[in-house]
Formats: sequence, C-alpha cells, structure tokens
Amino acid sequence: MGGAQAVIATTPSADQKLETLIKAQSYGLGFDLVGITPLGPATTAAAFDEWLARGYDGEMSYLARNAEKRRDSRLPFPGATTAIVVAMNYGGKEPSGPVARYARGDDYHDVMIERLTSLHRWIEARVGRRVAGKPYVDTGPLLERDLARRAGLGWFGKNTMLINPRAGSFFFLGSLLLDLELEADAPFETDHCGTCRRCLDACPTGALVEPHVLDATKCISYLTIELKGDIPVELRSKIGELVYGCDICQEVCPYNVKFSTALTPDSPYAVREALAGNGARTLARELLAMTQEEFSIAFKGSPMKRAKLRGLQRNAAVVLGNIGTTGDMDVLEAALDDPDARAKHAVWAPERLRR
Ligand code: SF4
Ligand code: SF4
Repeated sequence: MGGAQAVIATTPSADQKLETLIKAQSYGLGFDLVGITPLGPATTAAAFDEWLARGYDGEMSYLARNAEKRRDSRLPFPGATTAIVVAMNYGGKEPSGPVARYARGDDYHDVMIERLTSLHRWIEARVGRRVAGKPYVDTGPLLERDLARRAGLGWFGKNTMLINPRAGSFFFLGSLLLDLELEADAPFETDHCGTCRRCLDACPTGALVEPHVLDATKCISYLTIELKGDIPVELRSKIGELVYGCDICQEVCPYNVKFSTALTPDSPYAVREALAGNGARTLARELLAMTQEEFSIAFKGSPMKRAKLRGLQRNAAVVLGNIGTTGDMDVLEAALDDPDARAKHAVWAPERLRR
C-alpha cells in the first residue's frame, strides 16, 4: 500500500529534510500512510457538538466529558504544535466473518503505541534533543479522523470512516503529538463519494441516519462492543451473525472493494487461533460455554476483551437466536443459570428458535 504522500526512499542521505526522513522511518516501522499537520481547532468540532446534542453517542459519555479537548487538538497535550498521523492496514481483503476484521488479531492500541513511541525516540535521536510529545491511538481526547484529513490521509466518507483514495478505509489511525515545528502536508480537501450511497443502503439497522452521520445507538459495532446493558429487542434480529463489531458499511465501499489489501504474513492483526476457521454458530457456542479463565487465555492481548466475556456471551446468545437451531438449546439453557445480563438474551434466543 502506498502512503498519502509520495513514498520516500528508505535509505535517506544526510541532506534529506527531516519530514522526509520521518516518513521513511514511519513506513519502515510498518505504517502504511503518514502525514503531518499543525494542531489547532478541529474543522469537525461543530458537527461533533451536534452529534453529541442528538444523543448519538449513547453510553459513550466519556466523549462528552472531554469534548473541549476534542474540539482543539492543541489541548490534549499542552505545548504540542504538530501531529504526525499514521495509518496501519488491518486487512480489508480478509474474508467476512462473525468478528470485525480489526479485532481478530492483537490489540491495535498496544501495537501502534509501541511503534509511535519508537518513532518518537527516533526523532529525538535525529534532532539531538528531547522533544516533548505523546502518542495517541484511541487513547485520549482527539478527533483522530479530523487530524488525519488535515494531514492529507483521506476524506470523510458517507459511512463516517476516513477513506484514502488508494487504500480504502480498513486501517487504524494513530497520532504522535509533538512540540516540534514541521512542514505540514496539504489537507485532503476533496470528497470522492459522489452520488454513491452504498454504505447507507447496506446498513442493516439504519444507523447511518444521513450521509456522514452515525447514530451509534443503532450501530452493531456499538451494540456488540460499547453497550454494557441489554441489546434492544427490535435490533437483535438485525445483528444477524455478527458476534463482535460490523464491517458491512466498509465492505460495500467501492474504494475498499478496489484498493484494500491483504495482511502481510507477519502482521500482528492476523486472526488468532481462538477465532481461526470458526463460523458464527461455532464461535457463539464456544463463547457461551467458556469460563472466565479459558477466555483470559484464549483472548490474551485481544481487543475483544473490551466487551468482556459477559458481553460476548450476550452477543453469542443473540447470534444463536438469529442463526442457531434447536440443537443449540443446550448451551443457551446452560447460560440461563447465570444471573447476569446475558440470561435475558439466553431467554430470548430459545424463544426465537422455538418459533
Ligand atoms: S458498522 Fe454496521 S451497523 Fe454500524 S453503521 Fe456500519 S453497517 Fe451500520
Ligand atoms: S460506500 Fe460510497 S458513499 Fe459510502 S463511503 Fe464508500 S464511496 Fe462514500
């Protein structure tokens, strides 16, 4: 995959610009896109406020708590002036399945924070002094897509994802905020969605309420990951066989169909053993039968731990209600003995299967 800017020679000479060297080093660390932007007020701040006002953030109250900092990228790390924004492919060419592609391998927070920290140390060595800064990968109050667009990495698709015209959208974003003046890249100013609306039409729950606007409370990613309580009954059948997350509005995007790439053999995002070869029904049955200890071992270092075993079992019960057979009554009835939230879903699922 190429970068947002011209790919740079990997054996830099002494007279190359620092920005050029930083990009070469970023590609060498395994990032697929890189751009540089000055920090400042977010161009999407008003849209973000409107989104919060409509209650589309659901239970993600942490977003509103730090809204002030999200509106201005100079605030999360005082003194920082510049962001180096990177993107890392997580495998849009991998087949569809019950777990969203981004969550099948190692936790991207850990992987990318480590690499951005390495980049930070390299920059300090290069400039010959300490440079204050901090890496962010969904780990602080930053509107990262806003920064990425400003750094030239892509435009906001109607599905709300950042889309690169030569790479699509199946990549993670990360930013290294630095107290260091660097020459910025040109922001990405054009919108390449045109008249396309495949993502809006494909969303099973109608969560894309209008172009560029996501009602997270209806989104399967939110329902299966962020939501801690019960999944609303009217949305359960629409979840289909998705146990964790949803890629549908990315899968249908023509830029992903054409440009997304396979994972390299050494990618940290390659599917882990606990998920490999598992269809939705098998995975749902395994999760419902899993003990906490088994879960901790099988999903060590996985982003799926965010939903906790309890949340995954809730999702598994919903999936079996959608695609299971009466042969799945055994694991569902065993789950009924559990006093926590999943029991309600384990009641709902057999009722569906008996119809
Ligand atoms: S992730 Fe799935 S549910 Fe959410 S907006 Fe996209 S298609 Fe709809
Ligand atoms: S599917 Fe079409 S409208 Fe949606 S983000 Fe992709 S190009 Fe834009």
